[in-house]
Amino acid sequence: MSHDPDFLKIRNILEKHHKYWNNAIPLIASENLTSPAVRELAISDLAHRYAEGWIGERVYPGNEYFDDVEELCLKLLRELYNSPFIDARPISGVVANLTVYTAFTQANDVMMAISIPVGGHISSGPLKASTGSFIGGTAGAVARLNVQYLPFDRYGLNIDIDKAKLAIQEKKPKLVQFGASVFLFPHPVKELAEIAHEVGAHINYDAAHVAGLIAGKQFQDPLREGTDTMTMSTHKTFPGPQKGIVIASREELAEKIKSAAFPGMTSNHHLMHVAGLAVAAAEFKKFGEAYSKQIITNAKALGQYLYERGFQVVCPDKGFTESHTLLVDISNFQDSIGLGADVEQLLEKASIIANRNLLPWDVIEKRNYLNPGGIRIGTQEITRLGMKQKEMETIAEFFKQVLIDHIDPKKIAQDIADFRQDFQTIHYGFESQRRAYEYIKIV
Ligand SMILES: *Cc1c(COP(=O)(O)O)cnc(C)c1O
Repeated sequence: MSHDPDFLKIRNILEKHHKYWNNAIPLIASENLTSPAVRELAISDLAHRYAEGWIGERVYPGNEYFDDVEELCLKLLRELYNSPFIDARPISGVVANLTVYTAFTQANDVMMAISIPVGGHISSGPLKASTGSFIGGTAGAVARLNVQYLPFDRYGLNIDIDKAKLAIQEKKPKLVQFGASVFLFPHPVKELAEIAHEVGAHINYDAAHVAGLIAGKQFQDPLREGTDTMTMSTHKTFPGPQKGIVIASREELAEKIKSAAFPGMTSNHHLMHVAGLAVAAAEFKKFGEAYSKQIITNAKALGQYLYERGFQVVCPDKGFTESHTLLVDISNFQDSIGLGADVEQLLEKASIIANRNLLPWDVIEKRNYLNPGGIRIGTQEITRLGMKQKEMETIAEFFKQVLIDHIDPKKIAQDIADFRQDFQTIHYGFESQRRAYEYIKIV
């Protein structure tokens, strides 16, 4: 069976995939690498099981041991986020958001969040999203919420506090959601929480991108700033397996979240990743603060090195970023290379992986998401590989070679493969205790 041609074909493709990524510079702001310990758990027998319901109240048998796993996972996460209640059943960040929408809103309620062109995520998008999708964003098209936008200061890259206060008073939303996919600076939760609560809104903070930085105490602390719930993906700056969680600020919210998660947004909740998440949380307790600090230091350094080489890194007067993310306006390459899609492609040929992204002012310039004016860069994955400030200068130099000096991307890819030789292991995480294939042997 192991010589089945289709099996070999897939393996062969995966080998190429691994070779490409292991020799590239990974800069997608929403991705990360799990440790060997977390990977070991991902292929355990838990990957085959169901555990519908809450711990101790399952509607499937066989979960005596898994209940202990989930209990430990939740305990570690509650300690990490200093929260009285967490639900780790949502299988992704979008499902975590849907769980909150289901728990705390009704169809047609007004929800306020930032718009997609200024950094918002599709999961908080309206029925007719500006992304050209026929279905629209999750909040509008799936949760049937009436999405209104929080006013945004395009050039300061943050929510406009004074205008947002007025807009919240005028629209009287049932849900105000902070957080974004392009997230350079902390959102003004403290400044807007009181007004949002006054009009009767539930406040959710979508920490998909910055969850690691929050747990590492290097970003804002939304739960202490007035947020009622916080949702997150567990695999962006928080380097866990791909999953989502809902975090409550107080115990009273638990029942609503639990019943929205099941039976509602989940049936199976991907048990192997609950185990992996527990270990990722334990790793984060040990290494998270140092890791988060280095992510931000690297982002600021990379911003500076790119800026010095002539790149239009957004917000130079504010130190480029206070998170893992940089936004670079590449519209000055329009004549020589093209816009976002072309720049993304050329970088990819040179083994630099960073995605095209809308700039907040692209709408004014009549540029759309297919070929926007920016690229987004995240430093969380290269930091996980052990890179520090010195390597940020090397990476900035590679960008210059590709986009300014027009050196053959194939040659640069070769140099990048050489550069990556020193960065092939996962830092800030645990080693595996046994070889992954031993699990398969057991079955
Ligand atoms: C990535 C992201 C999500 C969704 O996460 P998935 O885990 O991919 O479902 C939600 N909100 C924001 C702001 C994001 O950036």
